[in-house]
Amino acid sequence: MTTATDELKDLAERASAELADASAAEALAWTAETFGDNYIVASNMQDAVLLDLAVKAKPNFDVLFLETGYHFPETIGLRDAVAATYSGLNIINAKPDKTVAEQDAEEGPNLFERDPNRCCAMRKVVPLRRTLANYDAWVTGVRRVDAPTRAGTPIVQWDDRNGLVKINPIAPWTDEEFRAYIDEHGILENLLVAEGYLSIGCAPCTAKVELGADPRSGRWAGQNKIECGLHG
Ligand code: SF4
Repeated sequence: MTTATDELKDLAERASAELADASAAEALAWTAETFGDNYIVASNMQDAVLLDLAVKAKPNFDVLFLETGYHFPETIGLRDAVAATYSGLNIINAKPDKTVAEQDAEEGPNLFERDPNRCCAMRKVVPLRRTLANYDAWVTGVRRVDAPTRAGTPIVQWDDRNGLVKINPIAPWTDEEFRAYIDEHGILENLLVAEGYLSIGCAPCTAKVELGADPRSGRWAGQNKIECGLHG
């Protein structure tokens, strides 16, 4: 018996081949046409590049923001500026089961120092999965140059872990192409980027990056960890 999941998986596999060389605009147009309102676009509110591209394909859609309770004020500020600028967006603040205070009471303070994988699982991975369960597809800003683990990222793929189609429209973009889009289109950007925070996550786990260093070297600096567990 063919299930809805099997059909979605087939769709992802066909699209992965057909859209292997698609531009971001083509991938997002396909997403809007194929899924209607049944997709969500993820943003960590470092910038609004992906959201700006997605609005050009469809002006109204859901946006996934993982509201971990540990964000910089500048990140929350960008989320609010995005909401004010792109009026068709429905920002969904996906929250963990426990507030930071509740987590501290149960697990002890600063779990992010002692066990960042457990902290990320509770504050990011679980809320992500719970939210994605409501959709057939999600769109991410993952790029191949982000990290060696992301070098093979396709434009369209089946997300086996979460059971839906995953679209990565800007996967092939270089850092130069990304910066040019921000500059040419006046895209909103987190104020911390200008201060040297080149890969922005939760405040306790994000540091400034030395000039010329790998942007993701500022994430979980000093910890044996390079990913939140959201993308692989
Ligand atoms: Fe916790 Fe740090 Fe992961 Fe945020 S990035 S969920 S604070 S471990």
